[in-house]
Amino acid sequence: MEKREAKRRIVLVSAPAQGHVTPMMQLGKALNLKGFLITVVQGEINQVSSSAQQSSGFQYITIPESVPESEVMRLGLVKFLMKLNNAREASFKDCIGRLLLQQGNDIACIIYDEITYFCAAAAKDFNLPSIIFSTTTATHRVCCTVLSKLNAKKFLMDMQDPLVQDKVVENLHPFRYKDVPISGMGPLEPYIEFCREIVNKRTASAVIINTASCLENSSLSWLQQELGIPVYPLGPLHITASAKSSLLEEDKSCIEWLDKQKPKSVIYISFGSLAQMETKEVLEMARGLCDSNQPFLWVARPDSEWIESLPEEVSKMVSKRGYIVKWAPQKEVLAHPALGGFWSHCGWNSTLESIVEGVPMICTPSSGEQKLNAKYIESVWRIGIKMEGEMERGGVERAVKRLIVDEEGAGMRERAHVLKEKLKASVRSGGSSHKAFDDLVKYLKAE
Ligand code: UDP
Repeated sequence: MEKREAKRRIVLVSAPAQGHVTPMMQLGKALNLKGFLITVVQGEINQVSSSAQQSSGFQYITIPESVPESEVMRLGLVKFLMKLNNAREASFKDCIGRLLLQQGNDIACIIYDEITYFCAAAAKDFNLPSIIFSTTTATHRVCCTVLSKLNAKKFLMDMQDPLVQDKVVENLHPFRYKDVPISGMGPLEPYIEFCREIVNKRTASAVIINTASCLENSSLSWLQQELGIPVYPLGPLHITASAKSSLLEEDKSCIEWLDKQKPKSVIYISFGSLAQMETKEVLEMARGLCDSNQPFLWVARPDSEWIESLPEEVSKMVSKRGYIVKWAPQKEVLAHPALGGFWSHCGWNSTLESIVEGVPMICTPSSGEQKLNAKYIESVWRIGIKMEGEMERGGVERAVKRLIVDEEGAGMRERAHVLKEKLKASVRSGGSSHKAFDDLVKYLKAE
């Protein structure tokens, strides 16, 4: 009897943002190491850099972009993403159709980011297996599921009652309705509609989440029950497989600067690839950081204009105590012995990267899931401090001292260290994430 040829190609589709591209590329690398061929389908916005493409050994295909990135400003993020999904559906179908014709049907699965749900239509039409990849937390997906079942107007009315605000969501202590992340996502109605699209599993046969059960076990169990298809919590992926995925050039000179600093003395400040700060806030940050007397490494992205707007005397103070880069090699920075703390916007990748190095955090979440992550950091894992209220120099100075100098910070560092060991154990043989990844590979090989 003729042996059935194993299908070994995985098609990956990421959302066009650093925080989504990075874990998708890591997943690609991890699967590639298990013998799968990887095809990355991307739009024209925020493509993986050509050097990262070359070093990955993956096949890259670009589908035409019909929604310019500038539309984000006009429409707001949620409506922009919904429009992008509508616009990409047909071109992705064409792309998969061409791939099947040109390369034969060797596709074992399409793995797509939960916010690029346009991929589901092609998977259905061509009868291809598909899996959803959630690059944020299981808890965030729980919140999207809860939101997807709500009526926007009624929810906003109900939320005027403090008793409703304080009600725990789905028995997932300590989450209360007031923690459900809706701020910064624009008007509620379209956001709820977007959540409905995200949580709709369509024909997907599983959900991959870049998390680990030691971090959010109850949310994972809740999801598993709600979804009725396998959930693979196989993170943190950056330990399993490192992949070059930076959309910006990393400035490695900060490592030499870190080499000259005392152990556990430096506070590293980065608010990820999207969050913006107002000049007024930056000024308060700069003054508070200088007053704390701790050395600091600060990321001022090329698209942030605050660096030029600092008054000369503040600029001088900053360069005395601090070091500024446009984009840092963040994982290397967090692993450096001079690091004492990470002041972060609490994007999920940054959070995972910090925990994996046992670095305690100061949290300034700006929107959506970052607020959930900050809640976990401060109240569940107790490895960080949340900055409350307006940015003000005294508050900044106190937060830095609490984290780096005080006993309180030492306790957080200790707990961060324990969590780091648990996380690392979860990706080793016998660990929960290792098992989840093995199960995923077995499933993909059986296709
Ligand atoms: N990052 C980096 N250098 C920087 C700042 C950020 O390499 O100077 C990386 C960081 O390591 C993380 C990603 O950018 O992997 C940011 O993702 P995250 O989910 O934390 O935040 P987002 O950018 O999605 O808001």
